[in-house]
Amino acid sequence: MKALVKEKAEPGLWLVDVPEPAVGPGDVLIKVLRTGICGTDLHIRAWDGWARQTIRTPLVLGHEFVGEVVGTGRDVADIGAGDRVSGEGHLVCGKCRNCLAGRRHLCRATVGLGVGRDGAFAEYVVLPAANVWVHRVPVDLDVAAIFDPFGNAVHTALSFPLVGEDVLITGAGPIGLMAAAVARHAGARNVVVTDVSEERLELARKIGASLALNVSGATIADGQRTLGLREGFDIGLEMSGRPEAMRDMIANMTHGGRIAMLGLPAEEFAVDWARIVTSMITVKGIYGREMFETWYAMSVLLEGGLDLTPVITGRYAVADHEAAFADAASGRGGKVILDWTA
Ligand SMILES: [Zn+2]
Repeated sequence: MKALVKEKAEPGLWLVDVPEPAVGPGDVLIKVLRTGICGTDLHIRAWDGWARQTIRTPLVLGHEFVGEVVGTGRDVADIGAGDRVSGEGHLVCGKCRNCLAGRRHLCRATVGLGVGRDGAFAEYVVLPAANVWVHRVPVDLDVAAIFDPFGNAVHTALSFPLVGEDVLITGAGPIGLMAAAVARHAGARNVVVTDVSEERLELARKIGASLALNVSGATIADGQRTLGLREGFDIGLEMSGRPEAMRDMIANMTHGGRIAMLGLPAEEFAVDWARIVTSMITVKGIYGREMFETWYAMSVLLEGGLDLTPVITGRYAVADHEAAFADAASGRGGKVILDWTA
């Protein structure tokens, strides 16, 4: 089968033939229809410091996908050929304290699809049945392909109650945009989104942000004044991993404000801890999705009318993967989809 593979320990990706994956007794064999390109994939393609430390070649990339079940192992019940599915990309150990308590998203031994084992940028992918999410209601195929990052957005946005609250989102990449849509849909009063790309801020406006603020020429305090806020933001969703964004967020939170942080910083950085203490701010790290409460929330949010289609701005056949990755790496657009059936 064809797959997008990190073959060599150097920058680049290669579309090559690899053997079809073996199907174990508890596994599901999925024909991949469409995949989403994630920041993780960009790191692996670029072969940066994180990738050099984390990835062992050869590796089939990819963890955002939608596909159709074409086979199941003998122990699999309730999932069958023809089911349309996406996959939870965190494979958990099932044995640690958190796994045993049902808090699988907190597993200490998580293996990432397309990171620690072969992924979904291929004609076929195999997953344990416990990691397969069946789309029981019809979902747009491109949206189904990005359930994994949509889950990051939902997990982050719904970490704290936000009905009637003023929400600040730093970073208007695909997950920040989806989080803005979720916050709006879930009843926030104001949703302010910051970025330095005008194209991405325009997407934030399209998806319902009250204010899309270009922080290359304005501060978050300016944004507060524009909206007439006097006491700061109630909820912060940090999506950029940038030190300056986190610092400006902390400086603009209300007393008792709550920050959920999904953006992954490239290295350690200092923040104003005295401000966190005296403003009594909660900071919560987010990684992945709650299994499978977040997935349930995603499906019902879409059923309830949440529209993610403005987030998807690039669609390519897999043969054009170079152009697709260049588009995704530009930092200007939204989500980029690869079609494996074209
Ligand atoms: Zn575990």
